[in-house]
Amino acid sequence: MNMVYLNGSFMPIDEARIPVLDRGFLFGDAVYEVVPVYDRHPFRLDWHLQRLQNSLDGIRLKNPMSTDAWKSLFLAMIEKHTQKNQSIYLQVTRGVAKRDQAFPMSTPPTLFMMSNPLHTPSPEDIENGVSAITSEDFRWLKCDIKSTSLLGNCLLRQLSAEQGATETILFREGQLTEASTSNVFIVKNNVLLAPVSNHLLLPGITYQVILEIAREREFELEVRDISAAETLSADEIWLTSSSKEVLAVTRLNGQPVGEGKPGRVFKRMHALFQALKREGQ
Ligand code: PMP
Repeated sequence: MNMVYLNGSFMPIDEARIPVLDRGFLFGDAVYEVVPVYDRHPFRLDWHLQRLQNSLDGIRLKNPMSTDAWKSLFLAMIEKHTQKNQSIYLQVTRGVAKRDQAFPMSTPPTLFMMSNPLHTPSPEDIENGVSAITSEDFRWLKCDIKSTSLLGNCLLRQLSAEQGATETILFREGQLTEASTSNVFIVKNNVLLAPVSNHLLLPGITYQVILEIAREREFELEVRDISAAETLSADEIWLTSSSKEVLAVTRLNGQPVGEGKPGRVFKRMHALFQALKREGQ
């Protein structure tokens, strides 16, 4: 039985109901998080809860729970599911109120959480890499808020889905931002390049873990603006997210990236990331 949490209680997913006037439904007036759980331990939970706080601050919504209460809820959710590896989704909306764009005065937020089995990349995708296409990034200017208003991301992801590709890599005014559901790194001449984390992209937890590993292990690293031209001529391109972990892009717009197979720097980073996961850090 898939048990979900809604506003204070656990229930089977089929019994969970949201009123049609919920602002999450009407306006996408809500924020969310997705936390991977490895071997029944949430990975970097403190970082996810900090990003949740930043997203709530970004939409001027009070955090409905303390950090300790969030942690207890995560442990309770993990307990209710048998899988060792889970993907825990949580969402906080501005609650149910008469339809009006301006915020309601004092409406309790809606709090929803669910767990699904965690699907990480297949051995084939790790071995061969995946394909991606590129597009102009036409989303809003607050992409650092992890908002459920994901229409832009959905439209952009659909472009690659229709071409049988894994991701849509985005450029805004000629600069790399991220992809429709993940962050992007490139490698050129053995230097790992990461776009600067600002309002144009989501500060991925995996992005931050990759930067941490790169610094600790003394990768040659530059965090700076990356042009579309640099991306299109990169030796390696990586996608990172809580479900993709770190995954190589080996075809971009139908052309091979570098030698058309996952590169040397990717292989090193992938192994270090897997080791970190196993240590439960
Ligand atoms: N960017 C976007 C647009 C995303 O939706 C995601 C998460 N799916 C990420 C980046 C990666 O974030 P994280 O590493 O925290 O999963």
